[in-house]
Amino acid sequence: MKKIVFATSNPHKLEELKAICAEKCDVEFVLPPTGFDPLEDGTTFEANSLKKAKEAACVSKMPALADDSGLCVDALDGGPGIHSARYAETAQKRIDKLLDVLKNVENRRAKFVCVMTLVDENGNVLAQKRGECYGEIAHSQSGTHGFGYDPVFIVKDTEKTMAELSDEQKNKISHRAKALEQMIEYLKEYK
Ligand code: IMP
Repeated sequence: MKKIVFATSNPHKLEELKAICAEKCDVEFVLPPTGFDPLEDGTTFEANSLKKAKEAACVSKMPALADDSGLCVDALDGGPGIHSARYAETAQKRIDKLLDVLKNVENRRAKFVCVMTLVDENGNVLAQKRGECYGEIAHSQSGTHGFGYDPVFIVKDTEKTMAELSDEQKNKISHRAKALEQMIEYLKEYK
């Protein structure tokens, strides 16, 4: 079985990755050393995803896969976007800030974006894949599943927030699932 470092310190992302990949590809994902926290100073999801993957490969001397993701809101010109994790101090404060900023805003269209990058043990890029999931921002939060902005993201063509979907449902339609499904096709051939 191939071993790949998953460049994250976010346990939710790892759980989703494992669930999405289960039985679809022959890979064991391991975590980078504790304290792995690269500076995300790129201006795009692609750049930050690449940076995380390269740094994880460099510290672990193994192939690495990284996820950079976030919420892009039309009325905020695509924000908080790459700054989603740092929009406010805690997950709840980030939700509160978003709802407050959009209080009187009619256009609530938004999307989740995820860019996955796979590099070899020397940091050379092997594949980069993007997934997007469309929806809109609710007026109040609901649901307890998932993480981050899930309780305020109403998934397109459903009446439900991402946090009201089961883990299994989220992992079929999410931005992360869409990026990973393309990456899995690559991983199937990767020796
Ligand atoms: P980063 O990729 O570590 O920069 O962080 C991405 C941030 O975007 C997370 O901390 C969340 O706030 C948000 N985010 C990314 N994916 C999801 C998701 O699947 N649900 C809810 N929020 C997400």
